[in-house]
Amino acid sequence: MERQKRFFLEENAIPRQWYNIVADMKTKPLPMLNPVTKKPMTLDDMTPIFNRACSEQELNTTDAWIDIPEQVYEMYKNYRSTPLVRAYGLEKALGTPAHIYFKNESVSPIGSHKLNSALAQAYYCKQEGVTNITTETGAGQWGAALSYAARAFGLELAVFMVKVSYEQKPYRRSIMQTFGAQVIASPSMSTKVGRKILTETPNYRGSLGTAISEAVELAMQTPNCKYVLGSVLNHVTLHQTIIGLEAEKQMEMAGEYPDVVIGCFGGGSNFGGISFPFMRHTIIDGKDTKFIAAEPASCPKLTRGVFQYDFGDEAGLTPMMPMFTLGHDFAPAHIHAGGLRYHGAGTIVSQLIKDGYMEGMDIPQLESFQAATLFAQSEGIIPAPESAHAIAATIREALKAKEEGVQKNILFCLSGHGLIDMTAYDQYNAGDLTNYDLPQEVIDQNVAKLEKLV
Ligand SMILES: *Cc1c(COP(=O)(O)O)cnc(C)c1O
Repeated sequence: MERQKRFFLEENAIPRQWYNIVADMKTKPLPMLNPVTKKPMTLDDMTPIFNRACSEQELNTTDAWIDIPEQVYEMYKNYRSTPLVRAYGLEKALGTPAHIYFKNESVSPIGSHKLNSALAQAYYCKQEGVTNITTETGAGQWGAALSYAARAFGLELAVFMVKVSYEQKPYRRSIMQTFGAQVIASPSMSTKVGRKILTETPNYRGSLGTAISEAVELAMQTPNCKYVLGSVLNHVTLHQTIIGLEAEKQMEMAGEYPDVVIGCFGGGSNFGGISFPFMRHTIIDGKDTKFIAAEPASCPKLTRGVFQYDFGDEAGLTPMMPMFTLGHDFAPAHIHAGGLRYHGAGTIVSQLIKDGYMEGMDIPQLESFQAATLFAQSEGIIPAPESAHAIAATIREALKAKEEGVQKNILFCLSGHGLIDMTAYDQYNAGDLTNYDLPQEVIDQNVAKLEKLV
């Protein structure tokens, strides 16, 4: 029989529900807190900022399955199912007995997994009579996805883009503008938060935390406007579980079950998306699967952060979340991990790490680009610099399997392609990139400022 390389689902086999892992978790995450009262967030606390449906999903700890609205499902069918691919080329290059599979989210029209949640959030906003939405974007993947989703559902979008990315990644800005979004470099003079930062530090080149503060501020001041977030929160990861739910069926078609599931980690949405449907079988059926979240060594919240209540943004406007964090005013080094440079981890994943269901793995910058290059040469896809961290972790696991002489099934999420990130590849190829070791004092200083609520 000819070996099969790619697995697709029939249209009617695309999952019709998302999976909410919180309902199955034995220890629920601690509640998010209202930043002012420090009491658990209620629906009424959430809805001034977020749309109601997503707020309900955020607080839902009881329903394991949540229906995908028909109109979102219709949009999903434009690009889903995404292929599950057996990486024969990479296996051969490594000489490993491991079977390596990747779920290719880079085939979405926007080039990453982000569209899975952008479409859902834009849809719910439209349903509720919202006319305008605001958001932040780091590397620009989320902003690009939301720009398209906003257009699809007839919403006006303002995107605060981290200034360093605005300058380094002009093409993502062009993409957003082509879809009709307004793009503002953050910090900007158009919000109170931005003006304060620029007055104090005129050369500040921005962070996700700052951009979030600006987007939340604008949303709270604009009538009929909601703020929309692309990662970290439970409802975002919920929408991304379409990745793992499809992968589960496709692995079945391949006749295998993963021993290791890997995703790169920024705020946790593609990692949670690929892994939670499999982790469900670990929690419920006692399956023995290893889950690895691959993060940049320069932004190591999973392995070197503290578990503490912290804000999602720099100014402290968002709810406080119990999470592994490097402190909300952590300013990451200017490395090329783009979308992975966020200070905190999300409440579900943080609890799952505490409970031993998964682990973080730190990948130095040069190792991630080495892995990306090997993957590109053996599979013909230029991966996003973010996804390269998952590839590097996969290669480590595949080489370990080779050393131990055991056959293992490794599944990773290729969260996006890197065709708009070629300046980063240029710098790597020119030998201009280095590893960056984050000094312990920097972490200690930042987390010392956190209020101790756990
Ligand atoms: C945004 C992004 C990430 C990181 O975000 P998560 O929420 O952790 O998934 C990873 N890969 C790509 C391609 C991205 O655009």
